Amino acid sequence: MSDLLLKVEDLEVHFRSSSSVVKAVNGISFTLNKKETLGIVGESGSGKSVTATALLRLIPNPPGKIAGGKLLFEGKDLLSLSDKDMRSVRGNEISMIFQDPMTSLNPVFTVGDQIMESICAHRKVSKKESKAAAIDMLKLVGIPEAEKRINMYPHEFSGGMRQRVMIAIALACKPKLLIADEPTTALDVTVQAQILDLMRHLQETIDTSIIMITHDLGVVWEVCDKVLVMYAGNTVEYGSVKTIYENPLHPYTWGLLDSQITSEVSNEEKLSAIPGSPPDLREEMPGCHFAGRCRYAQEKCFAAKPEMVEVEEGHFVSCHFQTKDMRLERKERVIHG
Ligand code: SF4
Repeated sequence: MSDLLLKVEDLEVHFRSSSSVVKAVNGISFTLNKKETLGIVGESGSGKSVTATALLRLIPNPPGKIAGGKLLFEGKDLLSLSDKDMRSVRGNEISMIFQDPMTSLNPVFTVGDQIMESICAHRKVSKKESKAAAIDMLKLVGIPEAEKRINMYPHEFSGGMRQRVMIAIALACKPKLLIADEPTTALDVTVQAQILDLMRHLQETIDTSIIMITHDLGVVWEVCDKVLVMYAGNTVEYGSVKTIYENPLHPYTWGLLDSQITSEVSNEEKLSAIPGSPPDLREEMPGCHFAGRCRYAQEKCFAAKPEMVEVEEGHFVSCHFQTKDMRLERKERVIHG
């Protein structure tokens, strides 16, 4: 039996206004195997959250539209499912957790009600059974005194505990795929580490595949097997975490790495962020979308879009000057004193 769970082929998502079309996702492709974790990394506006929303077919239409591509989940194309069949996939087979649990949890219902609602929407169970399952989920995500806390409201939980509740809701039906959109961004560093540990543990317990949307390469190195680096709606680099950690090749990936604060850097030093800002996606760009910010850009970069090339087995890069036969020499990162 194949290990392949999800195959995304040439996904395109557009948003239309009265005068223009924004190509928010511009033909991205990737695969995800069972029990695997893929990190999708990039700055705000790179298209990573739009990609996640498209997987659930929740792009608001209008103004948005999945303009092309295939989303093959266990071999069936999600784009050809009826709305009714897609509703059954959502929450049951594919679940999502969001960045800010306070805006995702309903403040007027107890956390127990919210987990039970998720269970009852997809399974034929009695109220008693759904309550027992909800308590089990709270225990699984590490909420102490679950029998008592199931009757509490979201505001009675800390930020980290609320995120645990969101994970419990998302995993209540033991989905095959969990999409986590910046699940630790709103949390402090210690709680972040606990939530990442929890997700790793749950993945082993429930055998769920995970797509982790993040702007933080540190999170990717910690929990992911593969990484897809997105810039301005395009994939710029894709491969196993080990390969890209050891041998990152795209200048944008280098920029992301340089802008991470690491333990090797003293407090007085500030790493360079990537200078400039992403392009206006309403405008047609003939060349590389990163050219305006790339310190390695040459004339060709502004004239022609680079192809995605497999530079070594399973390692794909989209840059005119990073090919099988050609390599850029990486310049020292800039450190402002
Ligand atoms: Fe930079 Fe040119 Fe490569 Fe784009 S194609 S990443 S602009 S060197």
